[in-house]
Amino acid sequence: MEEKAGGCQAQSHEKRRKTPHKRMTGMTDQEWMRLALEEAEAAAAKGEVPVGCVIVDASGRAIARGHNARETLADPTAHAEMIAVKEAAARTLSWRLDGATAYVTLEPCAMCAGALVHARVARVVYGCADPKGGAIDTMFGIGRDPRLNHRFEVVSGVLGDECSSALRRFFAELRTRGG
Ligand code: ZN
Repeated sequence: MEEKAGGCQAQSHEKRRKTPHKRMTGMTDQEWMRLALEEAEAAAAKGEVPVGCVIVDASGRAIARGHNARETLADPTAHAEMIAVKEAAARTLSWRLDGATAYVTLEPCAMCAGALVHARVARVVYGCADPKGGAIDTMFGIGRDPRLNHRFEVVSGVLGDECSSALRRFFAELRTRGG
C-alpha cells in the first residue's frame, strides 16, 4: 500500500514537471480550470473522489497541482487544495502565496478555504458549488468574511457543468460497482 502510494506520487510529479513551466501568462480561467479538471480525472482513475486543484503564481505560472488523495494516503487532510498549497509553498520556499490564484474544480471545504486564507492567495476560482460542504459561498463565507485578516477574490462556476459531471459520473459508477 505504502509503495503503491509512493509510485503514484512519483508518477504525477513527473507529469507535473512537464506541464506547468510551459504554460505561461495569458491563459484564461477556463484554460486553468481545464488543468484542474485533468487533476480531478487523475483522482477518479485512482478511485478517489474527483477534485483537482492548480495554483498559479502572480506571474501566471502554474506552481503546483494536486488532486484528492484521501484514500490513497489514508489522510483526511489530503484534499486537492491542501496538497497543492503545500507543494506551492515548498516550491517557492514561502508560506505566503501572495498574488496567487487557486483553481479548484469543487468549492473548497472549511479546511481548504482556511488554508487558502492562511496562504494569502489573491483569488480562488472554483467550478461547481458544494451543497454539503462548500465554505466559500454555500455554507460559510471564508475568504470573504471581513473578520478574517485576509480575504480573496472569488470566481465561481468556471466550467461548472464539467466539474460537477465529473463528480456525478464518479458516484454513479461507484453505485453501479457497488451493485
Ligand atoms: Zn477541502
